[in-house]
Amino acid sequence: MTIRPPQRLLEGYRRFKKERYPSEAERFAKLARGQAPATMVIACADSRVDPATIFSAAPGELFVVRNVAALVPPYQENAGYHGTSAALEFAVTGLQVTDVVVLGHGLCGGIAAALADAQNRPVGRFIKPWVDLLSPMRDAVIADDALATPEERQEALELLGVKQSLANLATFPFVQSAIDAETLKLHGAWFSIANAELHWLNDLGEDFERQGV
Ligand SMILES: [Zn+2]
Repeated sequence: MTIRPPQRLLEGYRRFKKERYPSEAERFAKLARGQAPATMVIACADSRVDPATIFSAAPGELFVVRNVAALVPPYQENAGYHGTSAALEFAVTGLQVTDVVVLGHGLCGGIAAALADAQNRPVGRFIKPWVDLLSPMRDAVIADDALATPEERQEALELLGVKQSLANLATFPFVQSAIDAETLKLHGAWFSIANAELHWLNDLGEDFERQGV
């Protein structure tokens, strides 16, 4: 059998090994002895929203889990295949990260799917039940007369999705005990793709504000 990885990936790896790796070889050698990231980021799988790029993070600095729409499911006993929950458990109880960031974003296809599903448009066998996690917020957004255009409803649900995921994070007992012990903080953020603006959920958990520029 011939192994034929995509040419663009081979070239990308070659460039990494030749250009970036030599200056970071020491870092990688140290990381081989163990990782100790202080931050977990829960982000969307969207190719345009790469947490390491947005936060200028080096290998070893961010523990990242990405899924459709950057959602955190609520805590469930015997939940089965709970990839995001498993990563969360390891980050909080194993790595003892000090911060968890839920990073939503503009033009999110997962959020669009949640809205499309409300109109009975097909969104995919696995996507449908996943984005159903947002159905109470989605229905509230659709019922809100102040949100007049599809774009307004989309962005409103993107922001509400971050808040819902933060609320769901707090339903995990190990997350709540770390918060109570003041060893863990939860944060919400939303990234606008077109102009690379980053908005953070304020301390009251109500509004998103531009920060860091
Ligand atoms: Zn997305």
